[in-house]
Amino acid sequence: DARIARIAAAIRAIPNFPKPGILFQDITTLLLDTRAFRDTIDLFVERYKDKDISVVAGIEARGFIFGPPVALAIGAKFVPLRKPNKLPGEVISEEYSLEYGKDKMEMHVGAVQAGERALVIDDLIATGGTLCAAISLLERVAVHVVECACVIELPELKGRERLGDKPLFVLVDAA
Ligand code: 5GP
Repeated sequence: DARIARIAAAIRAIPNFPKPGILFQDITTLLLDTRAFRDTIDLFVERYKDKDISVVAGIEARGFIFGPPVALAIGAKFVPLRKPNKLPGEVISEEYSLEYGKDKMEMHVGAVQAGERALVIDDLIATGGTLCAAISLLERVAVHVVECACVIELPELKGRERLGDKPLFVLVDAA
């Protein structure tokens, strides 16, 4: 698919960000390329439009960029999964571990109903910890996570294995 090559070429890798030794995959350059950005959304929409998905859950912050256009196109609602203390209403939260320390992900109570079918979207999977937290949060309220979708995967970090048998769809592999 020529679209994949265009998307891969539009992502910029920045060395030593946010700290020495990290090669950061920067998707802001993908957003500047109107064709590659559209292709990214189209590829997700083509895959999910007939899968009976009623919820697209986007992970803060870059899941908020790719999630909403997909949600609108497939006729699903968009639910933000946020960092702690950002959502104003009653929340349920899921703690998860980072490389150093812990973080929390929160979702509004009532945003989803038991039995709904969800797609989880983020820009990138590294260790898979973030997506695992999102899946747990949704499963705790009896939502079925049909699949997780990311623009980029860092295969060396084996995040896909951490997801177990939960399907993961990615467009581009990076080092
Ligand atoms: P994980 O939990 O899979 O280790 O890390 C994935 C999370 O960290 C995602 O929410 C993603 O946005 C962020 N992240 C980690 N590394 C990068 C990177 O190189 N580029 C971007 N854009 N996000 C990253």
